[in-house]
Amino acid sequence: MSLTRQILLAMTAAILLGSLTQRLLLIPDLLSNPVWQEYLHYILDDLLAHGLFLLGGKIFIASLKVLVVPLVFVSLVCGVCHLRDQGSLGRLSLKTIVLYLATTGLAISLALLLATWWEPGSGVDKTTDGNYVPPQPMALIDVLANIFPSNPVQAMAEGRMLQVIVFALLIGIAIGRAGEYGERIGSHFNDWNEVLMKLVTLLMSFAPYGVFCLLFTLFAEQGIGKVGDLALYMLTVTTVLLLHGFIIYPLLLKSLSGLSPRIFLRKMRDVQLFAFSTASSTATVPVTLRAVEQRLGVKNRVAAFSVPLGATINMDGTAIMQGVATAFIAQAYGIDLSLSQYLLVVLTAMLASIGTAGVPGVGLVTLALVLEQVQLPVEGIALIIGVDRILDMMRTAVNVTGDAMVSVVVARSEGAIDQDIYNNPKAGEQK
Ligand code: ASP
Repeated sequence: MSLTRQILLAMTAAILLGSLTQRLLLIPDLLSNPVWQEYLHYILDDLLAHGLFLLGGKIFIASLKVLVVPLVFVSLVCGVCHLRDQGSLGRLSLKTIVLYLATTGLAISLALLLATWWEPGSGVDKTTDGNYVPPQPMALIDVLANIFPSNPVQAMAEGRMLQVIVFALLIGIAIGRAGEYGERIGSHFNDWNEVLMKLVTLLMSFAPYGVFCLLFTLFAEQGIGKVGDLALYMLTVTTVLLLHGFIIYPLLLKSLSGLSPRIFLRKMRDVQLFAFSTASSTATVPVTLRAVEQRLGVKNRVAAFSVPLGATINMDGTAIMQGVATAFIAQAYGIDLSLSQYLLVVLTAMLASIGTAGVPGVGLVTLALVLEQVQLPVEGIALIIGVDRILDMMRTAVNVTGDAMVSVVVARSEGAIDQDIYNNPKAGEQK
């Protein structure tokens, strides 16, 4: 059975069994004998959901995360130091960043359009339990200032991806210019890159177990969340995510690169499943990088830059949630937004997307920034928090798909893609 099928199977089993466990735990007198009842609780909750499977899930996430900083650093230094024409770095970065911003702008416009049409927030009950403390929106200037590292070790220790990227770029450029010294170091980086990629492949084979553990615990805790009034909100977000992921991306890919979207989507399945289960673009970086290089044939010099950068600044799925959520909150509070306010939402959501770290739930924190710009009540976030985790999983899958799509398009325009690998269905496939 292919790895994708194994992960899918594990995912389905975990969602079903986890949700069933949640239901069972809610029934106070499922077993007539209180001792047996207590025993059942102990097994389902303490031993499985919050014991064995919680531990398995934590180990799985940790083993992905532990690779992110070393892999991004090594692979980017490697890509940059072997660039024959370092001047192309500027062009490559510009293309990547422009495409990231453009796709995010498109995503949020689509979200606003559908949310103003379907009006998921009108007539929604605004009362919440009052326990929610809205996040402090960060200053826009800090979002930008945070890109530049003052201490590379601290940046790596804290996993500050943009700072690691900037540092790796600088080191890579310097190695490329340091003649024979640079060549020696450069070849070591090459070796390290190969070794780390092998480790990614190795870890991926444990994914079905990791995914099962993660999702079992999650669904045993919360089921699919308190849907209630939020069904239309969820439907709107999901529809735009699907539209963007399965129609807009393929159209863009075909028109900008001429490459087959079918092959692209097929080869992205594993990555999407990882993103869905972990709800973290950053933890998925090793898997995305491997797929973009080894399955889609993008050369390391493009992939090593665009994938980690995308995982940090390109969040189309998050922008979609933020667009729908902003319209939803405005509708729930009966506030009309003007056209210029909508434009402001598009702009700030694009910036918020840069400031959103690729970890679970941060999209809701940066949503505060967007709401604040158009003077909407930040407490409104409490209305949608109950169903955010499941939407987070879906939007993260879209986020990583966008990163890979842009990487392929940029690579094609730079002549940095091996089309034989791209077109070969078996290339880089893992059993
Ligand atoms: N979980 C998302 C990601 O990692 C970010 C978010 O929307 O909260 O891409």
